[in-house]
Amino acid sequence: MTDEPAITLRNVHLTLGEGAGRVHILKGIDLEIGNGSSVGLVGPSGSGKSTLLMVMAGLERADKGTVQVAGSELGALSEDQLARFRGLNVGIIFQSFHLVPNMTALENVAVPLELAGDPAAFDKAKKELEAVGLGERLGHYPAQMSGGEQQRVAVARALVVEPAILIADEPTGNLDETTGTQIVDLMFSAQRERRTTLVLVTHDPSLAAKCDRMIRVRSGEIEEADVTAEGIPA
Ligand code: ADP
Ligand code: MG
Repeated sequence: MTDEPAITLRNVHLTLGEGAGRVHILKGIDLEIGNGSSVGLVGPSGSGKSTLLMVMAGLERADKGTVQVAGSELGALSEDQLARFRGLNVGIIFQSFHLVPNMTALENVAVPLELAGDPAAFDKAKKELEAVGLGERLGHYPAQMSGGEQQRVAVARALVVEPAILIADEPTGNLDETTGTQIVDLMFSAQRERRTTLVLVTHDPSLAAKCDRMIRVRSGEIEEADVTAEGIPA
């Protein structure tokens, strides 16, 4: 652990799409997120929140500006280096779970470790599934599990590499309130216990309020940053 921020974005611009469909999505984003902190990104639909997460995760490259995550300057990495960076440093949880349908829960969670060549992939995946309360579901396929169970598998898959950064895009958007709360508790306890940096997008004010900071995004710009959930400058 150092005092260096886990994530630093400087004047980040990104345009996506082709021809008439080109959209200037991120318009000069400046942001610092402290090591081990939790940040909730909020803002209207279409404001660029998901795109901003993808840039932090190294899944989209900025057209302009610099993106520094977990000590790496992402713009300087080759595609292979960027893939390795993602595999070792970033865990991502999506609204729609994104599990591989023809793999069991255990196989899904083992994937990131197998890609990294870890010989203990299945042992670690089993422990991670036990930690999210799915020790009895190791051999189940996604279609045989409820939405909440599938999202637990996705949380286990995100955490199994011990990522520096945990990113979640509306992780409770497809879950009922009780199940959503369980997923949120899992993410926050992982963040605290492992000192992971957590960045999540949510429309749920009670979820955003659990974060150390909220950042408001509007039309691809930061509208308001560095405020705590109570509106106090962080
Ligand atoms: P949010 O997550 O805040 O709802 P997004 O980051 O998904 O917003 O999208 C921001 C804007 O960029 C939207 O207008 C969306 O339609 C557009 N957009 C997102 N991805 C692409 C893409 N690959 N090509 C073109 N436009 C895109
Ligand atoms: Mg989105």
